[in-house]
Amino acid sequence: MANSGQKVVLITGCSSGIGLRIAVTLAKDEKKRYHVIATMRDLKKKDKLVEAAGDAYGKTLMLLPLDVCSDDSVKQCINNVKDRHIDIFINNAGVGLLGPVESISIEEMKRVFETNFFGAVRMIKEVMPDMKKRRSGHIVVMSSVMGLQGVVFNDVYTASKFAIEGFCESMAVQLMKFNIRLSMIEPGPVHTEFETKMMADVAKMEYPGADADTIRYFKDVYLPSSIDIFEAMGQTPDDIAKCLKKVIE
Ligand code: NDP
Repeated sequence: MANSGQKVVLITGCSSGIGLRIAVTLAKDEKKRYHVIATMRDLKKKDKLVEAAGDAYGKTLMLLPLDVCSDDSVKQCINNVKDRHIDIFINNAGVGLLGPVESISIEEMKRVFETNFFGAVRMIKEVMPDMKKRRSGHIVVMSSVMGLQGVVFNDVYTASKFAIEGFCESMAVQLMKFNIRLSMIEPGPVHTEFETKMMADVAKMEYPGADADTIRYFKDVYLPSSIDIFEAMGQTPDDIAKCLKKVIE
C-alpha cells in the first residue's frame, strides 16, 4: 500500500519495452516518491519486470492484470486499487501494424484502434472520476511521432495515434479546470520488441494492391533511411522513462 506522501502511479503495458522501464524507474526512485501499480494483460510475462525491479518488487511496485481492450478487466483492475485513487495514470500499452491497407483486414485495423485508441479512452474514462472528485491528477499518454505525421504503410497505426492525440487535446481543456494535467509523449524510434516485431513484419511483408512506385519508395528509400535513423537516433526505453519522470515531477 502507498505511504502517505507517495504518489500512486498506474501504468499499462508493463510486460516489456517502454512500460517496463517506466515502471522500474519510478519504483526505484531514490526518494521513494512513487507507489507503482504495474499492469500487464498476461501476468505469466511478469518475470522480466520482477527481475528488473529487484528489491522494489512488493514494496514500491506491485502488479495487477489488465487488458485495456476489455471493459471488465479495466473495471476490475481499477476496483482493485485502494479507494480507486490514482494520482498519475500512464497509458503506455500499444500495438503496431504495418503494410498496405489492401493487405490488412478491417478486423486487424479494429484491433489496433481497440488497443491504441479505445484502450486509452476506456482507461481515461475509468480513472477520471476520482481525479475530478479530488481535483488533482495527471494523465500521461504514450503517443508517437506518428501521432503527428503520417508514414507510408503505417496508415492504420498512424491514424490510431492521430485519433488519441485529438481526443487528448480536446480533453486537456476540459480537465484543466479540475486541476488535472494531461500530457502526451511522442517518441521517435525506440529500441523495443515493437521495433523487432516491425522489422520481422517488414521481412515477410507482401504488397498486394500497392503500386510499384510506392513499394519502391518504401523498400529503397523509406526503410533504409528508417534503419539509419534508428541506428543514429534510436532511443532506449530508459531514455523515455527518464523523460517521463521529468514530465511528472
Ligand atoms: P512493446 O511491444 O515492447 O510493448 C507494448 C506493451 O503493450 C506490451 O506490454 C504489451 O503487452 C502491451 N499491450 C498490448 N496490447 C495490450 C492490451 N490489450 N492490454 C494491455 N497491454 C497491452 O512496445 P513499446 O514499449 O515500444 O511500446 C509502448 C508504447 O510506446 C506504445 O504505445 C507504442 O505505440 C509507443 N511507441 C513506441 C515506439 C517504438 O519505436 N518502440 C515509438 C513511439 C511510440 P503483451 O506483452 O501482452 O503484448
